[in-house]
Amino acid sequence: MEDVWTGRCNCGALAVTCTGAPIRVSVCHCTDCKTRTGSAFSWNARFAARQVGIEGASASWRSAGPSGAVTVRQFCPTCGVTIAYRSEAEPEIVAIPCGTLEGDGLEPHRTAWEQRRNAWVDITATPMEFGH
Ligand SMILES: [Zn+2]
Ligand SMILES: [Zn+2]
Repeated sequence: MEDVWTGRCNCGALAVTCTGAPIRVSVCHCTDCKTRTGSAFSWNARFAARQVGIEGASASWRSAGPSGAVTVRQFCPTCGVTIAYRSEAEPEIVAIPCGTLEGDGLEPHRTAWEQRRNAWVDITATPMEFGH
């Protein structure tokens, strides 16, 4: 049986369903992710776009991140939770913030923007050069 990950924004207006194994699960220490999450790092799972279904009306915001790559974030216009984001350079890959998903899985195996990691954050995963 395939894995199915389901989640919602805080107010429940947006729902997400991801089917099958993620391409990558990672954390990111970049400043954009810190601001977006209000936390020391973000925790995200990458899926192929065809593995992801999003229901409900969302708003989006497009901006260039610290690496210069343009990211499009899809969020709930009511409660503000980001339900998905993608890089314009990789439109077939969708990142889902794992905190929106139910269940206890999706352990991160990669980290991004290690140079911006808060000194007190200690996550066992392999650093990578790009992405977040
Ligand atoms: Zn919401
Ligand atoms: Zn980031």
